[in-house]
Amino acid sequence: MGKTTSAAAPLLNREQLARYSRQVILEEMGVSGQRRLLDSKVLVVGAGGLGSPVALYLTAAGVGTIGIVDGDRVDASNLHRQLLHRTRDLGCPKTESAARTLEEINPGITVVTFPTVLSSANALEIIGQFDVVVNGSDNFPTRYLVNDACVLLRRPLVDASVLRWEGQATVYLPGRGCYRCLFPTPPPPGAVPSCAEAGVIGAVAGHMGTIQAVETVKLLLGVGESLANRLLLVDALAGETRTVRWSRNPECPVCGDHPTITALIEYEEFCGLPGRPHAPDPAAAPDPIAEVDPHEANLMLDQGAQLIDVRDPWEWASSRIPGARLIPVAEVSMRASEIDPNRPVIVLCAVGGRSAGVVEVLRKAGYTRVYNLTGGIIAWANLGLPTETGPGQG
Ligand SMILES: [Zn+2]
Repeated sequence: MGKTTSAAAPLLNREQLARYSRQVILEEMGVSGQRRLLDSKVLVVGAGGLGSPVALYLTAAGVGTIGIVDGDRVDASNLHRQLLHRTRDLGCPKTESAARTLEEINPGITVVTFPTVLSSANALEIIGQFDVVVNGSDNFPTRYLVNDACVLLRRPLVDASVLRWEGQATVYLPGRGCYRCLFPTPPPPGAVPSCAEAGVIGAVAGHMGTIQAVETVKLLLGVGESLANRLLLVDALAGETRTVRWSRNPECPVCGDHPTITALIEYEEFCGLPGRPHAPDPAAAPDPIAEVDPHEANLMLDQGAQLIDVRDPWEWASSRIPGARLIPVAEVSMRASEIDPNRPVIVLCAVGGRSAGVVEVLRKAGYTRVYNLTGGIIAWANLGLPTETGPGQG
């Protein structure tokens, strides 16, 4: 019998070494990194199109505790993108089918379910149990709620959103800015359609959710360059991605130097239509259609009308109408002061769909002479009217 040496328990047992071997061999992971994942707790908000790939990959990677919060039940329209759920799960609470799928993939981790809607009443208690939060919610009240709770609790938040063929992703780290720094006020109700209204490609949700899973693993391991302070923009239809840098806003009401929001608020109310000081004057309202064709618009521009382009920055960079001002749909509410209510306003997008919604929003907000450009910039260009390219203003 020799002297006993100190018998520290191995970081990973034989089964774990086998299961995780392909990632443990990575220099950035190693046995200690895998141990760190197994000791980590990640909350996934929403077991939907984003939350599915996030939860699937983090579970398979051995993140030791995965929380899933979702108050919905599985609907047939979910199945094309929400791969946590199976056809047999129709009608079942999403947390239940999610937990079943995840346990089949990796019985070595713990899945904690919260079959409820995240609210101001429960968010701090739920989020406080986790190290990192991944946002897969599909509505603005929940986005602001999760953001504020993460700022108050100093939890990193891995965020993404998807619509149609497009996605965005970024990371909010404590002290380095938050969702409100990027999006200080919610868009007017109706200005940004939901996936239910506008549709979404399942694989685009899968792509963005997978990016969130990667960012979460990087955060847990403390390796690489996180997407913090960069917004990744994916246009899957064009096959293009870009990143836009953003900074913490010292005036941010929740994470700024002098925060005015120090507790959770009522988020449904916060995301309602902001009031305007004056009601629209019905006598001065334009005709109900409020459309102008490109030639009419061109004449109005010569006579001093304003042209507001509500497309996304990457669309703007590829082609725009000279003299237009870029105010993407999501920013219309907070930048309405840039639109002069005393001059006619022409709103445009690619083909006239998004801009029609903004016309309605501006009319409700009190703008009386506001018109939609029929057919958008595509109709404009097809008629041979001038366009220009390059980054330009905005
Ligand atoms: Zn902020």
